[in-house]
Amino acid sequence: MHIVDSHCHLHCLDLSLYQDTLDVVIENARQSGVMQMLNVCLHLEQIDTIVELCTRYENVYGSVGLHPTEKPGEVPCASEIVDLVSRHPKIMAIGETGLDFYYQKDKPLWQQQRFEEHIKASLLTKKPLIIHCRDAFDEVLATLAAYPGVRAIFHCFTGDYAIAKRALDLDCMISFSGIVTFKNAKALQEAAQKIPLESMLVETDSPYLAPTPFRGKPNQPAYTVHVVDFIAALRGVLPETIAAATSENFKRLIT
Ligand SMILES: [Zn+2]
Ligand SMILES: [Zn+2]
Repeated sequence: MHIVDSHCHLHCLDLSLYQDTLDVVIENARQSGVMQMLNVCLHLEQIDTIVELCTRYENVYGSVGLHPTEKPGEVPCASEIVDLVSRHPKIMAIGETGLDFYYQKDKPLWQQQRFEEHIKASLLTKKPLIIHCRDAFDEVLATLAAYPGVRAIFHCFTGDYAIAKRALDLDCMISFSGIVTFKNAKALQEAAQKIPLESMLVETDSPYLAPTPFRGKPNQPAYTVHVVDFIAALRGVLPETIAAATSENFKRLIT
């Protein structure tokens, strides 16, 4: 099987769990069929690590961005983000960015401004935009609608099928994490069952959000296979079908 983990944070893993080396993590992934992964940036200062891992591992890609809940008040400008993209040819996406009104209930203006600078950087570089969205679907979708042509990926999607359809109308991709395997995630499972395969990605968001049967434990890219297996069972298809379609979708995003 060829699986792509479309969203992980390799630089946040506790390496003491993996003989203190990422080689073990990458090898675990390979043995589970996870052949490529996108290592997602949370702070602009992480760019050096992102570049280093793009260089060290042939199957690791990178992104550049400032997470919506990190460094409150800071708004990097689009040109700053664009400059960092040129640091390595395998930096293939902008983000993660978006709106998070779960942690920032007061819906601060800087979060919206930060999101829009990332959108502009995505349009300028023609790189896809990785969206983090919590308790903010209406606001995120309205913002995206104001920037035609942006190619967005809803990472760790948690909405229902109706929200998924609104995102698909804006040509977004939907990425499912281990949350889809949780027992109480019925509405999310319906979305994973019904959206077209051409719009689907899979991810771990490791080290966070381990899928069943590892819920509550540290996550790693290898576990993407559990998300693939679960969605395949939901849709009544072979895991290979989900793996192939989501890998193909990822390939389209990086080319
Ligand atoms: Zn996120
Ligand atoms: Zn993330």
